[in-house]
Amino acid sequence: MSHQSIILAGGMGTRLRARLGDLPKPMIPFAGRPLLEYHIELCRKHGFTDILIFSCYRADIIEAHFGDGSKFGVRIRHVVEREPLGTAGAVLDGFDLLADQFAVLYGDTMLNLDLTRFRQAHEKANAAASLVLHPNDHPLDSDLVEVDDTDRVTAFHNRPHPVGVWRQNLVNAGLYILEKSALESFRDWRAGGGSRAATADQAAARLDPPPMILDFGKDLFPAMLRNGARLLGYNTPEFIKDIGTPERYDKIAGQLASGVIARSSLDVQQPAVFLDRDGTLVREVSRDGLRTAEELELLPGAADAVHALNLAGYRTVLVTNQPVVAKGFTSDAELRRTHNKLETLLGMEHAFLDRIYFCPHHPEKGFPGERPELKIACDCRKPKTGMVELAVRDLNIDLTRSWFIGDTTTDIQTAKNAGIRSILVGTGYGGGDQRHAVAADHTAPDVKTAVELILKTDQRNQ
Ligand SMILES: [Mg+2]
Repeated sequence: MSHQSIILAGGMGTRLRARLGDLPKPMIPFAGRPLLEYHIELCRKHGFTDILIFSCYRADIIEAHFGDGSKFGVRIRHVVEREPLGTAGAVLDGFDLLADQFAVLYGDTMLNLDLTRFRQAHEKANAAASLVLHPNDHPLDSDLVEVDDTDRVTAFHNRPHPVGVWRQNLVNAGLYILEKSALESFRDWRAGGGSRAATADQAAARLDPPPMILDFGKDLFPAMLRNGARLLGYNTPEFIKDIGTPERYDKIAGQLASGVIARSSLDVQQPAVFLDRDGTLVREVSRDGLRTAEELELLPGAADAVHALNLAGYRTVLVTNQPVVAKGFTSDAELRRTHNKLETLLGMEHAFLDRIYFCPHHPEKGFPGERPELKIACDCRKPKTGMVELAVRDLNIDLTRSWFIGDTTTDIQTAKNAGIRSILVGTGYGGGDQRHAVAADHTAPDVKTAVELILKTDQRNQ
């Protein structure tokens, strides 16, 4: 079955004029081919072969190059915007051309994602729209998206952020899948110039009268959320970057040449480094663990270590036992706040975790204040491998190329149980817990030296 994609190719590329000459931004060449060819090849690979290109500046050049798409194995229709309508405004304007479900790609980003996996997640979530999200390296001055434990979007938080409020480090990356039916009321309301916007949900959208220029990220998704629509936040480490400036263009050209972009797609198996939290990345405060976000403090070198793994193309996966939740010492909300702080502190040093998995359970019952529903023998509490298995599924991880770094014998036993190479660090318990009679493959003074060891070892083996 063929799927539909819309490529928004209206960008002029003012800041890239020196590299572009007369070309519109989406035609900027990478390795001798226009950027838009990469989008079309990606769409074709994943069955999105019904393509609408929305262009504006020098639409003639784009149309002449791609024609009806037959040269590229797809069907292409061209829509020329006569006036700026914004990203969502343009799509709403072409409403009659839309299929029941469609993807939206930005023609001024370089991207390589497993679109099939993204579409399946969208359908499984039964979402009205799905947004690709990723962490960035300036979370405190970015517009952030909040998702719940089921990845449903719960809020859009625009900068500036209040001091002391820790948020997830997730931003809108600019790639969507939408259901046409979810846009009908917006189309009608827009066509009526706002005057017909008398229904409750349109009034609730608080966009009456409709602005002339309607943007997906700034206007449409927040309005859909206010109307109660189900939005999926699809957090992925795959490559999606705005070309923007000559510096970014040069960097992305380098990443294309070195294979970084090709390797980033989740349809290719990924090497990962699993990281314990307490005593490995953050300071161990007491036997009972962290109870508040205020107690969380990164260990020296932890952000550098994670950043080095990010740069080297490893997926970074936090796996942590948090029996403090089952014991009633901390709440779900406070644990979330604690992890938001961890993400923010790492983000401020250009480092990010691709996933955070925690086990809130604890097997021994009978203590005051505990949460009986979490006092169970689960599959996720380390040294069991439930969290590792989740990560393998979520991020297509190749365990034979992966590592585990932790400060306890429980971590090392987990690695052994999962068949992953292990490094015991000297921080935190430094192996002194002696719960399991197991030897690590390597030892290192701290997480930073552990990561250096990983990079050196894997380089040697390549
Ligand atoms: Mg630990």
